[in-house]
Formats: sequence, C-alpha cells, structure tokens
Amino acid sequence: MLKSDSLKKVKNDLILVCVILSLSLVGFIIFKLTMKDGNLVSVSINGDEKYKYSITDNLETDIITGDDDENTNTLVIKDGEVYIKSANCPDKICVGHRPISKDGETIVCLPHKIVVSVTEEK
Ligand SMILES: [Zn+2]
Repeated sequence: MLKSDSLKKVKNDLILVCVILSLSLVGFIIFKLTMKDGNLVSVSINGDEKYKYSITDNLETDIITGDDDENTNTLVIKDGEVYIKSANCPDKICVGHRPISKDGETIVCLPHKIVVSVTEEK
C-alpha cells in the first residue's frame, strides 16, 4: 500500500516536471517567434506606467523621479532605438544598457525604480 502510494507520487511528480518543461519550451518558442520590433516605448515609475512614446519619435527627455525630484534619467529615442543617455543613479546600469528596440525588451533603473520597455501596440 505504502509502496504503491509513493510510486504514484513519483509518477505524478514526473508528469508535473514534463508538463512544466514542455510549457516553458512552448513559451520560449512562442517568445522567439513573436520577437519583433516594437512600436511603443513605455516608461513605468514604481510600477505605474507614466509615459508612452512612439518608437519613431526622435526625442530626448528627462524622466524625473524621487520625493524631491532629485532623480534624473535622460531617455533618448532615436532611429527606432531607446536608451538612457545619462542618469544620476548610483550604479549607472541603465546608462550602460545597450539600446533596445524589440518588443519585450526593457531597461531597468533599479535605484530610481524606472522601467523602460518596448512593446507592440496591437
Ligand atoms: Zn540607473
């Protein structure tokens, strides 16, 4: 009785692992297939979407955050690519990020809680 129970459990675990693996594989394939140029640039601050731009806009704008507006990230959209030109955050990871242009790509500035993402408007 006990033995068959634990066997059953192992079998269920294996099925679960297989399901998870195939789901993630399918997800990965779909992700790869649908990876294409985005057309919208979305800027979220602290999890809320604050600004939206078209990726065809050529612009340079300061994104100001912080309780006393002490944080600045300079966002540039140019030739269908988006990048952070400069920022006064301590780690500068966002500035060092390569330009993004594909649907689903993001640049994150953790210290300033900013997420810049490229999406595709349906
Ligand atoms: Zn940063």
